[in-house]
Formats: sequence, C-alpha cells, structure tokens
Amino acid sequence: MSSSSSSSSSSTNDLSQLSKPTVWHEFTPLANEHNAVNLGQGFPNWDPPAFVVKSMEETVNVKGTSTNQYCRPQCHLPLAQALADDYNSRPSWASAGVRVDPATNVVSSLGVTQIMYIAFRSLIKKDDEVVLLEPAFDIYAPQVLLTGGTPRFVSMKTDTEAGDTANEVFQVDWDALEATVNSKTRVLVLNSPHNPTGKIFSRTELDRLAGIVSKYPNLIVFSDEVYERIVFDPEGSPHISFATIPGMWERTLTMSSAGKTFSATGWKCGWCVGPEKIIKLMADLQQWVNFSTPTVTQDAVARSLVKARSPYEGHPNFYSWLAADYLKRRDFLMKGLEEAGLPAIVPAGGFFICAETGGLKIPDEVYMEDSISAPDPMPRDYAVARYMTHTDPKVAVIPPSPFYSKENKGEAEGYVRFCFCKTDDLLEEGVERLKGMGAKK
Ligand code: PMP
Repeated sequence: MSSSSSSSSSSTNDLSQLSKPTVWHEFTPLANEHNAVNLGQGFPNWDPPAFVVKSMEETVNVKGTSTNQYCRPQCHLPLAQALADDYNSRPSWASAGVRVDPATNVVSSLGVTQIMYIAFRSLIKKDDEVVLLEPAFDIYAPQVLLTGGTPRFVSMKTDTEAGDTANEVFQVDWDALEATVNSKTRVLVLNSPHNPTGKIFSRTELDRLAGIVSKYPNLIVFSDEVYERIVFDPEGSPHISFATIPGMWERTLTMSSAGKTFSATGWKCGWCVGPEKIIKLMADLQQWVNFSTPTVTQDAVARSLVKARSPYEGHPNFYSWLAADYLKRRDFLMKGLEEAGLPAIVPAGGFFICAETGGLKIPDEVYMEDSISAPDPMPRDYAVARYMTHTDPKVAVIPPSPFYSKENKGEAEGYVRFCFCKTDDLLEEGVERLKGMGAKK
C-alpha cells in the first residue's frame, strides 16, 4: 500500500500455486504456539446472540415438516422469503425500484466463499477475464483460476496525505481500471465494506464504476457485502449496494452471509441475490455440487433475520446494536494503536484496521524462519507480522500482502492488519502489550 498503483494480470491458470498453506493456516497456530493475543484472523471470539442460538434450537426441534431433511437445492424457501423481505424493506432498494422475488432471485450456499465459486463456475469460460481491485480478499483470485478464468489486478492508490480515514486513503485508480476492463472482462469483484481496509465505496465511486460497467454488456459485478451490517457512520458513509445504482440490478450479483452479522462464521450460510437468468444458472449448477446445503442452518438464519428486525438492547433493531457495539471496539483499538505509536487508518465499516509499521525496527532473526505460507523472499509486512506474533509484543496480526497479486505485494510492505471482533479482555490485553512494544523508533 505505497503511494503508487498499478495493474497486472496473473501468470495464468497455474494451479500449483494453490497447494501452499495460506496466511490463515499460519498465523492462528503461530499465535497459539507463542501465547499471543490474537488480533489477526477475523472471527468473533464470542457466541452468537441468544436469539440466534435459540433459532437453531427451534429449527432442529421442528417436528413433522422436517428441517432436518434435504431442502430445495436453490435455497430453503423460508430463507429465500426472509431475505427477499429483508432486501425489499431497505429504502435504498425500494427507491431503486428493485424487487427481490424469493422464488427466482435468491440462491444460497455454504457462505459467500462457495456462492462466489458457484457464480464464477456458472459464468466464466476459457479466456474470460476477472478484474479484482487490490487489496482483494484472498479467495477471489484462486477461485478465478479454479474456474479457468484469468485474474486481472488493479491496485487501489494509497494516499496517506489525503486524510486519515480508509475512504480518503484508499482510492480507485480509475485510469488503471478503465485501461484494464475490456470486452473479455466477464466479472469485476467489488467488496464494500472492504476487507482489509475498512473502506466503504461512496455513491460517487459506485456511479463512476457503473459508468464503466455500462460500456461492457457482458460484464457482471460480484458485490461482496459480508460486512454490510457493520457500518460506523450510516449517514455520512452509508453502505450502498451496487445493485441499487440505476441500471445495475441486471448486472450485479449481491452476495452476503450470516457469518459476520450473527457472529456465526462457522455456520457457513451465504446467499446471492440477483437477476433471474444468472440465479437460475447458479441453482442448476448447485444441484450437481451439493444438491442442497444444510436446511437447519438456513432455517435458523431465516428465523434470525426475522427476529433481528425487533428492538434489541435499547436499539431499534439488532443491526443498529451490532454496529454500535463494533464502533466501541473500533474506537478502543484505534486509541490503543495511537497510544502505541502505530498510525492507523480509520475504517468506515467491517472489523479490521490497517496500521502503518514503517517506524518499527525489526531485527533479522529466527522469527523469519519456518514460515509455511510466506512468499520467498519474505515480504516486509510478513516479517513484521511474524515478529509481532512470535516475539514482541506477542500480538498476532495479519500481513496484508496475501491480499495482493505477486506483482503488487510491495504495496503492503508498510502495513499490518488488526481485527477488533474480539472481547474487551482480549482487546485490552492486546493494547497493553502494544504499548510496551520495544521495536519503535
Ligand atoms: N468475503 C470477505 C470480504 C471476507 O472477509 C470473508 C471472510 N473473512 C468472506 C467473504 C467469507 O465469507 P463466508 O464465511 O460467508 O464464506
């Protein structure tokens, strides 16, 4: 994440690179081995809310019409109905004139991870290209390769002079994007709120993107919205679904899941909402992949979506409480990072913070050995993240370079990613350790 930006394509269709362990295989075990406070991998370390757990209990215990048996392959109908009600009740969807039909516009699967794979598999043909805006969540590029497409990377510009928020610092390089999208581009993946930066794309940015999409009739946008409910300033920096931009419903697959919203990442219940023609392709494919995905999980999520609309802990609904709870955690960790002398970029959504580590002096020692997932040579952000986890201050973080293609990994070298989806005790202990960190200049 330097001040530069660039675009590049991957060395195409070389699947051997997919057999390596990933950053996720490395850092949580490393944290456990060295007794580090884990502010690395982004999973909440608390239980789902009681109403969500209760939903699962209820569904498993339904007698007769059994939720314990196979369901409709496309999507368990109660989930499709709950999702349609949810999207149709959003003012921005209604005012865009978009109406989700539970029978034809919704398909579900095992998290966004699998629904995205099914979407790529349904659309990508040999020689098709997929544009990824970097940093990009690390499943996208391998999925493109697995489905026979060619990833094309456009790195966002990083301008720390522009302000201290992710929305200001991380900017789309429109020239590079325009130069990369072409008639072979079948898919562009958008992620907002964004992992790892916390950027939320503005209406102006989405309109400009829609302008590019309009020029290429074959191009479909995959909009990964898994952090849609964790938004810190809904007035100033609202989450806007790309599907609601004029003319974009027919061109967008909106993907989300229950993992982050209901603190239930292990349930792996995700969905895709979009135009009937593409949803049908995906549903047809799904029946040969899983036949159907777990009915109980879908049923429990359907119940939870209905209950989440009710007042919750003094808030008008669960989502408002969730965003307020995460805002407290974000502010606590931001303050801790500031006190520890690590300049951090304020996220507008999601549960990650990117912090600058340029000022850290990291000795060249054993912590660099035995990495199972680092590229060779080890990028600086990897070395810093390993040092922080392994030696000082024993706080696990994630290096952002896995979110970049080989050519653009240098963009990440001055940063590490912290998460704040952790309980108060863990965040407090992490901040305490960071204050005592010895590697500062
Ligand atoms: N997209 C992004 C941007 C993510 O951060 C994650 C999980 N970390 C996923 C997708 C995966 O979502 P799921 O668990 O629903 O497969």
